[in-house]
Amino acid sequence: MSEKSEQDKPLESIEALYADAANWHVNTGGETIHAKRMDGRFRRIKWLTAASWIFYLLAPYLRWNGQQAILFDVPHRQFHLFALTIWPQDIWLLSLVLIFFAITLFAVTAVAGRIWCGYFCFQTVWTDIFTWIEEKIEGNPQQRRKLDAAPWDARKLGLKLAKHTLWLVIAVVTGVTFSGYFYDIFQLWHDYLTLQVPLIAWVVMAAFIFGTYVFAGLMREQVCFWLCPYARIQSVMVDRNSVIPTYDFRRGEPRGRARSGAGDCVDCQLCIGVCPTGVDIRNGLQEGCINCGLCLDACDSVMVKVGKPPGLIRYASENEILGQPTPPFFKRPRVLVYGFILLLAAGGILYGLTHIQPLQLTVLHERQPLFIRMSDGSIANKYTLTAVNKTGGNLPVQIRVEGLEGATVEANDGAPVVLTPEMVMPFRVLVRTRPEQLKGVDTPIRFVLESAGETQARLEYESVFVGPAN
Ligand code: SF4
Ligand code: SF4
Repeated sequence: MSEKSEQDKPLESIEALYADAANWHVNTGGETIHAKRMDGRFRRIKWLTAASWIFYLLAPYLRWNGQQAILFDVPHRQFHLFALTIWPQDIWLLSLVLIFFAITLFAVTAVAGRIWCGYFCFQTVWTDIFTWIEEKIEGNPQQRRKLDAAPWDARKLGLKLAKHTLWLVIAVVTGVTFSGYFYDIFQLWHDYLTLQVPLIAWVVMAAFIFGTYVFAGLMREQVCFWLCPYARIQSVMVDRNSVIPTYDFRRGEPRGRARSGAGDCVDCQLCIGVCPTGVDIRNGLQEGCINCGLCLDACDSVMVKVGKPPGLIRYASENEILGQPTPPFFKRPRVLVYGFILLLAAGGILYGLTHIQPLQLTVLHERQPLFIRMSDGSIANKYTLTAVNKTGGNLPVQIRVEGLEGATVEANDGAPVVLTPEMVMPFRVLVRTRPEQLKGVDTPIRFVLESAGETQARLEYESVFVGPAN
């Protein structure tokens, strides 16, 4: 194993960097990138933001009222989020949440480019962890390239076996965790270990293990380059005011190895060497750049070494580099439009969360026959009420009708109506009234369903009572 990480070593002299420069070249997609690891401000920020994925790994183990706090219960078509249960009827709420996150991504990209890719995206975070493991086991980039090119022997076999085993362990944990959002995770671990999970759980886990291992371990930055759709559309979201990692060409050019050269760029290639996607930031905005800031750390350390101010590569807008005025982000039209949509979506989500009812009711008037004339002269209509009890326990309810003086309501053939939890329950209701109460062929009425137990719930549903023409 490598004794000391590249990241922990101080920066070499400029001469050593020049000697090293031949190892770094721009990614053409033909080979695995072995990027150099260096310490620095953005490197540390990257580790911190990557740590937010711990929530993904731990969230399925959170409990709430004796059940998993976050669970997509596909068989029962419910989404549990702590005290909240979202049913298919409330799916619009989830749609709003998705819209909210999508627009947030657009807004953030307009302001700060692909900051999501550089600091939060699971592809780059997992790749970062996989390559960190690789460096710990196989050594720095030069040692890794040498090992790759070396013939197979016991040492190479042992190192590769250790690395791939660790990668697979991470891939398995990732896969089981993902499945755990759809299946009680404690039960899932038990069922996996006792080989009792349903086939679909095996398929999901296998897909995730394969995806994690191949994308983060083998393909790495090629996913960002060739597969990620976000990289393709970023150019329509950023503009000349977006703050992204930018090479200050006015300060850096003409680049050259002689320190007395006119530009500050000493052409050491270190910014390419540390880039996880093998991009040369000096060529301007390109789809391979994931905005991770690691080239900023590298270049700043070089600038310190050659006695120049840091910031030759920095987070800046194109207008700023060109010395043109840059409006604050909250005055930019596209940010304002994104912000307005975000506010609408957030308002809708807030409304939904505060108005989700523990009950749901629909009423269907029976058409065959439209009405019945009873032997005592009264008129009766039949309805099918469908109620959903979204609470966790039995819910006794009472049903009455408003808008029809003296009407009687008989539900469930006279038996008490008790809605069983988390079930869609249809039941028959017969409404009777005297003909003189009717206001024509169609009399508007309102069904009122009220819970009779401890849970407070009241629902109304507009319908009509149909009577004879005369
Ligand atoms: S931009 Fe900075 S890191 Fe990159 S080659 Fe020039 S001096 Fe070196
Ligand atoms: S060019 Fe710089 S900011 Fe862009 S991906 Fe490479 S290291 Fe990260």
